[in-house]
Amino acid sequence: MKRLVIIGAGISGLCAAHEAARYRSKAADGFEILVLEASSKVGGKARTVKRDGWLIEAGPTGYLDNEPEFNKLLEQNGILHEKVQANDAAARRYLLHSRLREIKTHPLAFARSRIIGPIGMLRMMAEPFVPRAKPERVALESIWDFASRRLGVAAANKLIAPMVLGVFAGDARQLSVSASFPNLVALERDYGSLTRGMIASRRKGPSNQGPRSGLSGKLVSFRRGLQSVAVALAESDKFTVRCDTKVQKIEAITTAHGSNDRRPPRYRLLIDGIDSSIEANAVVAAGEACANAHTVEKVAPEVAMALSEITTPPVVVVALGFRPQAALNFPTGFGVLIPRDQGYRTLGCIWDSQLFPERSPKDHVLLRAMLGGSVDPDVADLDDDSLVELVSDELARIFGLTSLPILSEVTKWPFAIPQYDLGHPLRVARIEAALERTPGLFLAGNGLHGVAFSKSAVTGIDQGRRAARWLGGIPNAPGTDPKER
Ligand SMILES: Cc1cc2nc3c(=O)[nH]c(=O)nc-3n(C[C@H](O)[C@H](O)[C@H](O)COP(=O)(O)OP(=O)(O)OC[C@H]3O[C@@H](n4cnc5c(N)ncnc54)[C@H](O)[C@@H]3O)c2cc1C
Repeated sequence: MKRLVIIGAGISGLCAAHEAARYRSKAADGFEILVLEASSKVGGKARTVKRDGWLIEAGPTGYLDNEPEFNKLLEQNGILHEKVQANDAAARRYLLHSRLREIKTHPLAFARSRIIGPIGMLRMMAEPFVPRAKPERVALESIWDFASRRLGVAAANKLIAPMVLGVFAGDARQLSVSASFPNLVALERDYGSLTRGMIASRRKGPSNQGPRSGLSGKLVSFRRGLQSVAVALAESDKFTVRCDTKVQKIEAITTAHGSNDRRPPRYRLLIDGIDSSIEANAVVAAGEACANAHTVEKVAPEVAMALSEITTPPVVVVALGFRPQAALNFPTGFGVLIPRDQGYRTLGCIWDSQLFPERSPKDHVLLRAMLGGSVDPDVADLDDDSLVELVSDELARIFGLTSLPILSEVTKWPFAIPQYDLGHPLRVARIEAALERTPGLFLAGNGLHGVAFSKSAVTGIDQGRRAARWLGGIPNAPGTDPKER
């Protein structure tokens, strides 16, 4: 029987496997689906730790519920009902600017917060009158360039740069706006202004219900944590998952019939640490960009070269739990962004127990601080005790906390969030062109088209579907034509 192998059991790889299984029933002949995961557990960055009544997310907090295809998949697996929406606190966000200031959405209230001075505010309010830039220019712009052109330098520095720290743990001057925030670029393109575009899309969508978070969509997670989705998918019996199985390299199995052989290619996957290999008729690489670069090196050197250019710096997550009296030190909200010029190493802190109260024992406080990224990668070299001390000390200074944490959990992600730098759009085009020349090889994960959890899921669904169609020889279907990858 033919075999589809998916490398990586993060949300992307598992969604690819699920979608391929759904399409298998439509294929002329069946195929086996095997997911290989290097670590001992499924979920990848979605890792949930449960301890003494605390539910700690070691990776993503939740995700914006704006991908209908992902919801459909959750429904097909009977796990949609497990989804929980963050409570109203998620709508309120803070920025450290000498002291804690709420980022208000109403212009007058925002002006009163004094995050941006009067001249900067006037410049921001002129945004609807800033002419639309040509697409060729936007394609080369960093997030900072785009923001300063549309909103002014003050807004780019005080508002957008910290937001980029929060999403990418990255530097707004280094990241491509069209690759990192295509929805912002689309607002300028379609409405000529971010302000007009946001007003129009708020009027349109159902996504304006519930606590808004970021640009669009409600912040959601799952009753038993984000990893529970991965576990449910892996246990669905639609495909086989093998953990503790790291793919070292993919090799092409050459046929004895020479270059005129028109039969579909076959691959051999070499497994780390054991003397055996696994054969596949199609492969979806769903690891981190740098991991995929390594595995596809032999069969798609150009893809590997381009993927290896995507930097994925480390991020450290320090979760701290406090007794109930600490709650008095925190205003109602999602959390705080801490700009680099404020003199702290913590990039931001999320007040998990306010968003999802069931994550801590009754009335207790659960916070998670993020450190590292491209702006401070060396922080990942500190040991766990030093990291807990560093974060406890910084949070005590910012919030006036006097009590010590009663719980701590440190997670270091050596390859956390890919940085879509200014070369990213061209790099993606190079990768996709090279994949056209490597039939049977597909690329999922968050390396190319979006770093959000739900975006990674949707990329997995898309690539799983394409792999299944290609493998099943479904005629005239998208995915049988390499141009439609
Ligand atoms: C600290 C942190 C906070 C985040 N917060 C949010 C958030 O709040 N909201 C949000 O939307 N997104 C967030 N993200 C981003 C989001 O978590 C990720 O983009 C998403 O989970 C990536 O899923 P994935 O399946 O593409 O990759 P991963 O989850 O990285 O999974 C890849 C899997 O592939 C495996 N693998 C790699 N190489 C091999 C190999 N050779 N052989 C076998 N297996 C291999 C890995 O072990 C891993 O399990 C956050 C990310 C981090 C790191």
